[in-house]
Amino acid sequence: MRIINRNWLNFSTAMDYNQCANVSSVLHWNYRGFTEFPLQKLQGEEADVIDIYLKENLISRIPSEICKLSNLESLYLSGNDITELPREISKLRSLKCLDISGNRLRYIPEEIADAKNLKFLILDENELKRLPLRLAELRILRYLSVCDNKLEWLPQRPVYNYHHCEFRFWRNAAIRTIPYSLWNHMFRDQQTRSLNIGCLHLTNSGDTSNGAYIKILDNKRKHEVTIKTPYDYETILTGDNQTPPSLFELSKRRFYIILCDIANKLNDRPVSIYSDNHRDNVNNICVRKLEDKLDGFRINEHSQINDINGNYELNRRNQLNYIIRNRTRTYAPADIVRGYFDYLPNFIKTDLCNGPPSRCENITCKNPVFDYAYFDFCIEKIILIDSKEDVLLSAVFCSKLCADSWKSEKPALQWKLV
Ligand SMILES: [Zn+2]
Repeated sequence: MRIINRNWLNFSTAMDYNQCANVSSVLHWNYRGFTEFPLQKLQGEEADVIDIYLKENLISRIPSEICKLSNLESLYLSGNDITELPREISKLRSLKCLDISGNRLRYIPEEIADAKNLKFLILDENELKRLPLRLAELRILRYLSVCDNKLEWLPQRPVYNYHHCEFRFWRNAAIRTIPYSLWNHMFRDQQTRSLNIGCLHLTNSGDTSNGAYIKILDNKRKHEVTIKTPYDYETILTGDNQTPPSLFELSKRRFYIILCDIANKLNDRPVSIYSDNHRDNVNNICVRKLEDKLDGFRINEHSQINDINGNYELNRRNQLNYIIRNRTRTYAPADIVRGYFDYLPNFIKTDLCNGPPSRCENITCKNPVFDYAYFDFCIEKIILIDSKEDVLLSAVFCSKLCADSWKSEKPALQWKLV
């Protein structure tokens, strides 16, 4: 490893230089009063930097050039004034720890899911109202903390592996309900330490001044809860509603299932966070099946549609060769969509790349649910050390049929849109 160029530190004291000279890849820049991310001080040595401490400065923006820090493993930015993360965060492929707590973040880009080596992601004390769906693609994440934000709903699946990732979401006062499957994995039959969850109280949140709300009636306990409608879906129906999902919704679901299927066949492990089946290693039989699946789609290696003059067979063969050559690579649905289905309109692509907000809670179904969701609510318990606490759970279904069969076993609550 190279010793850091002295020029970096021409603004600094002799002590700073020694620190950096001894541990060339670690930059201790806490409490310096920086108003800008001091990238320019690295003067071409960006690739040498492993850890950056920039806590308690006055930085309001992370520049997109941050992607030059190609070997950066830890970035500590707590206690600044940052309002957004650049999409280029996705290019920090070595990044293991990102602490950006105590800032003013309102939004985390979905591209964070491409920083595949993240193990610790600390987003406490910001102004986040929602979390990116693709967070759950971070397979080796060990710790995700989003305490003290303004979250209103939690994603149905916030982390990839509940058993290997600690997920903390305490003190988001607007959260009134958690997804049934999240409760099922995190809290069911498990004693929870006396966590200061600080949300989930079954009290009326009161303010329904603007926007659409859901009012849930708990006749047994004689109280009602009012929650803002979830932002992930376009149409929300009670499980009692007879209206079928739109054709557009049904085709998106179908297409997503086909994509996941294809992606699974190209991999020896599930590609999507939403895939449930581990498939066998790719072999020729799978590729032959894939050929059937792709029949009729205009695809080729370079994403150019030029197969209209009878070259389709040839192109498809090229495509399959390409697939076979690359079969050891890890594909995500995003790759599949971008690489092979470029003719799709962008708004559909985005939906398909990000994946559906939910899967049907009916475990025998698990259909993807995009815009058209049937909701139901029930109350279950969280076991604390010396007591049990009621918690309101929300469940999403693909159809009235699935909602009905789930409800037959659960004490579902009455609710209505107001
Ligand atoms: Zn279903």
